[in-house]
Amino acid sequence: MAASETVEIAVVGAGVVGLATALRLAAEGREVLLIDPNEPGSGASFGNAGTIAEYACMPVGNPAVLRALPKLLLDADSPFALRWPALFQLAPWLVSFVRQSLPEATRANALALAGLLAEALPAWEEMVKEADMADLLRRNGCLYLYRGESDFAKAAGGRALRAGFGVNQEVLTPQQVVALEPHLREIEARGLYFPDSMNVTDPKTLMQRLLGAATARGASVRQAKITGLQVEAGGVQLSGPGFRIKAGTVVIAAGAWSLELATKAGDRIPLEAERGYHLEFPTDAPLLDRPVCPVDLGFYMTPMAGRLRVAGTVELGGLAAPANPRRLALLDRGVRQFFPQLGRPSSEWLGFRPSLPDSRPVIGPSRGSLRVIHAFGHGHLGLTLAPITARLVADLVGGRGDPARLASFAADRFSALAFSRHIAGLPSRRP
Ligand SMILES: Cc1cc2nc3c(=O)[nH]c(=O)nc-3n(C[C@H](O)[C@H](O)[C@H](O)COP(=O)(O)OP(=O)(O)OC[C@H]3O[C@@H](n4cnc5c(N)ncnc54)[C@H](O)[C@@H]3O)c2cc1C
Repeated sequence: MAASETVEIAVVGAGVVGLATALRLAAEGREVLLIDPNEPGSGASFGNAGTIAEYACMPVGNPAVLRALPKLLLDADSPFALRWPALFQLAPWLVSFVRQSLPEATRANALALAGLLAEALPAWEEMVKEADMADLLRRNGCLYLYRGESDFAKAAGGRALRAGFGVNQEVLTPQQVVALEPHLREIEARGLYFPDSMNVTDPKTLMQRLLGAATARGASVRQAKITGLQVEAGGVQLSGPGFRIKAGTVVIAAGAWSLELATKAGDRIPLEAERGYHLEFPTDAPLLDRPVCPVDLGFYMTPMAGRLRVAGTVELGGLAAPANPRRLALLDRGVRQFFPQLGRPSSEWLGFRPSLPDSRPVIGPSRGSLRVIHAFGHGHLGLTLAPITARLVADLVGGRGDPARLASFAADRFSALAFSRHIAGLPSRRP
């Protein structure tokens, strides 16, 4: 007979989203149990590019990507590649991604993202104070580089879209780029500067700080994998090998691994993993003052404590396959176009972005029960959106705020009816 315990709120998954949510709920005096089979913060939240990208309201699927998609997917060395053995499994997601890349859907997705991103920085400021992590953030903005006039021209739609949502962005001449980043003097590139964005200097330490702040406020941690989820009268039964936990409310925050649990809760959600990679190079002195993204290469070069992290690119292809050395070589060749003097990388990493075809996360109650709250699917923006997600989840638990606000992030938005209403600009089912 499995040992059983009860808890007010179980948060499944201790990535940045689960950690931020556990902290928020514990700070409000809730009894919280955080559950993860792995070291907290060791998933996608460990290896990302470290940008708090409040400007990034352009969805991954958009008309420019759609036009380039055949070329991108057929070139194994493009920044947006496909593992062909996974094509069958990926087909439904890809079809939905194509639909979501049409102009009207892109606009709706950008609007939804922009609404969340507008609250991302204030939510971060609050969390930084709560977890005492100001020393782990730099407030130097972020820089996109365009090395060809045609790339700059093609990005006009993105600039207009961001301008429409009030994002602070400045177009820079090649001279202004070099004035900001002197080590890029050999590179002739136009820049697009986002002065308000911040970056994390060490994601691993930041995750540890979040965990420390959550446990200091009373959250408990259990190293375990949840394999069963069943809604019952008065609560939700979670289970795994040799244990059972009855929770009043369950928050599913298991990143790219959330699908199975969400399905058990009664939802059909097109969640896929966008595989991304990083390499790190030790540096005696920082080579850059802020994250720099050469847009054509699809990665960020982010200065972190004692090292340069080169992180990004997309490889569609599921959770099971091992790291693809060709993708790591692509990052290595790319960064050497800027810094040929770099030695061998000191670490390499593969991680999994939890991604929906419309680039929006799932935040809000399950269709199956109000006692199951989803908080996953943040794609390229999980670090940026973790604190605002935590706030929204805490508001739901506390019965505060307007639940209609979460309609754009509802679990059922991909059902046929919800999809047609969404395209028609009507709100989908109220969560
Ligand atoms: C290369 C790359 C660069 C990126 N750059 C940025 C960036 O600059 N800015 C940004 O905002 N975002 C960025 N992202 C995206 C961001 O890292 C993710 O969106 C974010 O980390 C997702 O956080 P999460 O907590 O949802 O998932 P994760 O951090 O993956 O955590 C999920 C956790 O759930 C646990 N888990 C899984 N299954 C179970 C189970 N059955 N029971 C219990 N626990 C379970 C896992 O062990 C894991 O610890 C990047 C991602 C990649 C890959």
